[in-house]
Amino acid sequence: MTSWRGLAVCETLSPEEAQYFFGDSDDGLPTHQQHERARLYCYTCPVQVECLRWCVETDIQYGVWGGLTESQRKRYLMPAIRKEGLSDEVLSEVIWRVGSRIFKRLEESDFRPPHLGASETAEAQPLDLPTHKSLATTSA
Ligand code: SF4
Repeated sequence: MTSWRGLAVCETLSPEEAQYFFGDSDDGLPTHQQHERARLYCYTCPVQVECLRWCVETDIQYGVWGGLTESQRKRYLMPAIRKEGLSDEVLSEVIWRVGSRIFKRLEESDFRPPHLGASETAEAQPLDLPTHKSLATTSA
């Protein structure tokens, strides 16, 4: 097992919640809403950059990885990698750029992945995770 997987938020989810990452849930949500729910998990995950790097290096085409859908990886990530190479800085910059809608949703909603606990405040927790601190530093 790759070491970062031990910290992956999606490893803590139920099989039903995990289906959101592939748009396979049968709970009636359209695919784009399932993907958004998956991305909310990703954007509170401490190994988002490592996950996205693994997705690129292993050429995974399907599903949400590192907070990006397949189409977002094709549209935003792959051109950036072709232009600047594959590095944590490039991955972080794209994650930050593509995540603006998700950051807003996290701030406005009381949605909390199970690993953050129900008592945490909407404003403090997501942006206080190590991944997001490093992303904020990178984008400054
Ligand atoms: S970034 Fe998303 S897909 Fe990757 S390990 Fe974290 S929760 Fe799972």
